[in-house]
Amino acid sequence: MKTILVTGGTGFIGSNLCIRLVREGSRVLCVDNNYTGSLDNIAEIAEDPNFQFILHDICEPLQIEEKIDQIYNLACPASPPAYQGKYAIRTTKTCVLGALNMLELAKKNNAVILQASTSEVYGDSLVHPQGESYRGNVNPIGVRACYDEGKRCAESLFFDYHRQEGVAIKVVRIFNTYGPKMNPNDGRVVSNFICQALLGKDITIYGDGLQTRSFCYLDDTVELIIRIMNSERSFTGPVNTGNPGEFTVKELAEQVLAKVQTSSKIVYKDLPADDPCKRCPDISLAMEKFGWKPTVKLSEGLDKTIEYFKTRIQEYRG
Ligand code: UDP
Repeated sequence: MKTILVTGGTGFIGSNLCIRLVREGSRVLCVDNNYTGSLDNIAEIAEDPNFQFILHDICEPLQIEEKIDQIYNLACPASPPAYQGKYAIRTTKTCVLGALNMLELAKKNNAVILQASTSEVYGDSLVHPQGESYRGNVNPIGVRACYDEGKRCAESLFFDYHRQEGVAIKVVRIFNTYGPKMNPNDGRVVSNFICQALLGKDITIYGDGLQTRSFCYLDDTVELIIRIMNSERSFTGPVNTGNPGEFTVKELAEQVLAKVQTSSKIVYKDLPADDPCKRCPDISLAMEKFGWKPTVKLSEGLDKTIEYFKTRIQEYRG
């Protein structure tokens, strides 16, 4: 049985990953400081003998007595309102110090370590779609920089630990992912639009709504992350994971409005600083190397996500 440590394990992607790994027969150590994650997300596996929750902030070194085979490093505030707000400095610390501490743990255990990087390393991209070789267009002093540059620094640390210390690394650049266990107050576009529609509140489009995103359903993202982790030891990535189906924010609003019986109206608000204009992953590498492609279309994924948010709608504060 493999022992797998997941940082950010009570967050949106982390909790779904923990549940899948436990169900597939691994021992899972779930590490989180619960700043943006929640124990509710892991309630269904909390009593499983192969599951253990460890309350810990990865900005501090982590001592684990048992031998660890794999580490998924997912911990980081990821919702723009969180990392551009009260968690800005903490976001850089989590990306950089967290990566250092987890890479040291991987080195000590001779474990394989996977970094959850992000499409944000490409910034406000000047190429379209974004392939892994594109080096990005990030504003290093803007409000998104703590996340973008933090994740970029984490990637460089991963590759230096690989070159200098021989640590087996995998880097996955995750594009916009949505689905069950997203926090209703996450502040991202999918959670906002669905919660607003369910409550009959205004649908808040930032800017003109012509900016694009490519939305990947959670299960597709988790599937590829697991495949990358289990690739041959020498394979490092980076690998883009995302769904190349590209939609304007306005189209997303229209899809949500068409699905939810609601009196909500679209309203336009200011576009946040450095908000990327166009985003779409080039997933050729994932398709060729892993025979992977996204299986859940936006319409189907939205249906499932709407059903989920109905169960938590009373929590929405927006
Ligand atoms: N957005 C929006 N209304 C909202 C929340 C977000 O129009 O209530 C826009 C946001 O400005 C961005 C896009 O939707 O252009 C995706 O935003 P999100 O925060 O979900 O993800 P990210 O910007 O990190 O890709």
